[in-house]
Amino acid sequence: MSAIVIDGKQIARDIREEIKNEVAELQQQGFRPGLAVILVGEDPGSQSYVKGKEKGCEEVGIYSRVIRKPDTISQAELLEMIEELNADEQIHGILVQLPLPSHISEQAVIDTISPLKDVDGFTPINIGNMLIGAECFLPCTPHGIVEMVKRIGVPIAGKQVVVVGRSNIVGKPVSMLMLQENATVSICHSKTENLAGITKQADILIVAVGRAKMIGAEHVKPGAVVIDVGVNRLEGKKLVGDVRFDEVKEIASHITPVPGGVGPMTITMLLKNTLEAGKRAAKAKVL
Ligand code: NDP
Repeated sequence: MSAIVIDGKQIARDIREEIKNEVAELQQQGFRPGLAVILVGEDPGSQSYVKGKEKGCEEVGIYSRVIRKPDTISQAELLEMIEELNADEQIHGILVQLPLPSHISEQAVIDTISPLKDVDGFTPINIGNMLIGAECFLPCTPHGIVEMVKRIGVPIAGKQVVVVGRSNIVGKPVSMLMLQENATVSICHSKTENLAGITKQADILIVAVGRAKMIGAEHVKPGAVVIDVGVNRLEGKKLVGDVRFDEVKEIASHITPVPGGVGPMTITMLLKNTLEAGKRAAKAKVL
């Protein structure tokens, strides 16, 4: 039987509706959450991601300020701009669109963002808090994946979760979040031996590699839930995931499409974090 195709767009719409209502409530009390997005350079992928974020803010009523800078900007100028936003009362979340030009250290940029406004959840303080289960901004894509799995009613506790990919923005944090949900987690990477032997044990298989169509039916246990994080642009501009969708759909119980799966969840969780940051700032002001 063919898998249920997880409708990330619809789940994201549902969550955005909830966010919109909360933003409206905050606004009635005179507060409006605000997000600043810094975009350096002309990378078309980054431009389209930033547009999506701007549109998302508009949809739920969050104030957004997009700051576009040429790729000749110096690291010092960029860090100074972030410091100003750290102190800006209209702004509760700050996001610097990655990747940055090679003369700028991404780590230095991330380290400059106040953890209180780090709505991407990339600063070491947020990551550390996530690891110990303390209050923090969870990184958006991993958080979106966990939220999606919960909302389709798939139990996580006690299940075998296999994550392919160990990046700091997807693989590692989603593994940690799944562990916090009481899954038994394995993490695979480019040096993993017998990849299919491990992925085939997964009740929930999360693939975040960035290699078009690398995961096929031979990697998947019948009945598994398959979450495809990969976004790969083929020649002719078609977007595909890391999973061979048509083939895996025939054996999985649930599968995310690309596009329309994890992608819409990522921006939605950014909006959720920005709302949260705004709520915290509003509370701090009232107290
Ligand atoms: P990275 O390139 O940072 O990490 C890729 C990971 O895949 C690495 O850990 C690497 O292992 C592993 N890997 C590479 N080749 C293999 C292999 N043959 N077998 C097993 N593992 C392998 O990528 P990201 O995590 O940043 O992104 C992954 C994908 O997800 C990309 O396509 C990206 O565009 C997409 N993405 C989508 C988002 C969304 O919202 N939908 C958000 C973020 C990312 P090693 O560590 O050993 O090198």
